[in-house]
Amino acid sequence: MKARIGLEIHCQLTTLKTKLFCGCRADYRKMDPNTNVCPTCLGLPGSLPRLNGAAVKTALLIAIALGCKSPDVLSFFRKNYFYPDLPKNYQITQLDIYGPACVGHDGQIKVDDRDVRISRIQLEEDPGRIVYSGASEKNLETLVDYNRAGAPLVEIVTEPDMESPRDVRIFLNLMHDMLENIGASDASLEGAIRADANVSLEGNNKVEIKNVSSFHDLEKAVGYEIMRQTNNIENEIEIDKETRQWDEKRRITVSARSKESDTDYRYFLEHDVPWIEIGNACDMLRKDMPESIATRRQRYTAEYGISDQVAEILSSQQYFARIFESARTDENSRELANIITTDLMGLLETRQKQADSKLGSAELGRLVGAMMDKRITRTSAKSALQSMVRDGRSFDDIVRESGLGTVDDESKITELVGSVIDSEPGLVNQALASPKAVHYIMGLVMKKSSGRADPEMVRKAIESYLDSKRNDAPDQ
Ligand SMILES: [Zn+2]
Repeated sequence: MKARIGLEIHCQLTTLKTKLFCGCRADYRKMDPNTNVCPTCLGLPGSLPRLNGAAVKTALLIAIALGCKSPDVLSFFRKNYFYPDLPKNYQITQLDIYGPACVGHDGQIKVDDRDVRISRIQLEEDPGRIVYSGASEKNLETLVDYNRAGAPLVEIVTEPDMESPRDVRIFLNLMHDMLENIGASDASLEGAIRADANVSLEGNNKVEIKNVSSFHDLEKAVGYEIMRQTNNIENEIEIDKETRQWDEKRRITVSARSKESDTDYRYFLEHDVPWIEIGNACDMLRKDMPESIATRRQRYTAEYGISDQVAEILSSQQYFARIFESARTDENSRELANIITTDLMGLLETRQKQADSKLGSAELGRLVGAMMDKRITRTSAKSALQSMVRDGRSFDDIVRESGLGTVDDESKITELVGSVIDSEPGLVNQALASPKAVHYIMGLVMKKSSGRADPEMVRKAIESYLDSKRNDAPDQ
């Protein structure tokens, strides 16, 4: 029986300066509890919301990237429910009930040869955070922190067009890269992108899975839910329409609460936020739209001759794509792409490390050039790169001061090879008998030269050394 999976993705617009309806900071992280608040986001009487224009612009960019249509006029609604994380007792969000009013609707995106339809994209405010703390599970304190209340959030809702946990993974990775690429969100921040799923098996009730902490667990939860529903149907047990939660410890989903219907939320128009006429904003934004990851990947393979695999890794991360583009020349494309995807990405795996990096693209270009001219070995390049990232020193200074330049003086290399072989009696006979021992000697020589010896010259020197020994050996 075919599974039908839909996703609801909540993406915080972390690149914005302020919350959706007030001047408090959008970046609430690392602040003392309840210090990033004002009368508006606390919902105090007499306060009025004022819409953040940059949030509308970013939400429209997401809509364009997902091929959505946008209405001429945007409006907002109140979604009423009582929960301690919601100071106003309602959330300002969007709804298409009286015709299109959300930032986007009816989009489509290709996910690994499958079309996933996007039902709608809406702009809304994040609630606050409930924090459970206390000495033990039995003695819990429940605290609330409103620093996040009112932070700008975009909800992306898909049709149930995915069929497997694998589809879910590919889709979420694609979303993650796309949201970073258009500068909407820093997905590496904790909780910046969260996703819920709904799963049903053809003709049966739909089950929602909520509050899953990571993409990885969501994939597992979806897999578990398909299995549970299949078992139920085989045993003629009806599937309840319900919301379930993922139990991380037991690796199963558990029933959470029966699903509210839209009527329970008593939606009504938010008259305190004026209607927003979009006019030709979408056409203007489309012109400023950053190049899509797919187009960039194609350009890297077609114009720069980079392998598809490397192009895929490089194009999906804007930070590295930008360094690549500015350090690239017609000659160095492939070497540069390789050093970025193998060494630099390992050094700068988090946003914080990228922000702290002191590496300039011109210096990176110099390093790759030296590697291509064999003035420096790959091993030395790696160690120079570390120092350039950490201290921002120039490549030439590092080579001069630490002597990382390649040893390519033939007599020096011959001397090095001789001293290594002489230091271990018996090595010569082993090397004469087995090519494996030649590799071992090469390793020793490279180590002794701190990775600076030109590997090709070392190999030749070992061979000629061994040849001379072969000639010395008595005829058998
Ligand atoms: Zn505020």
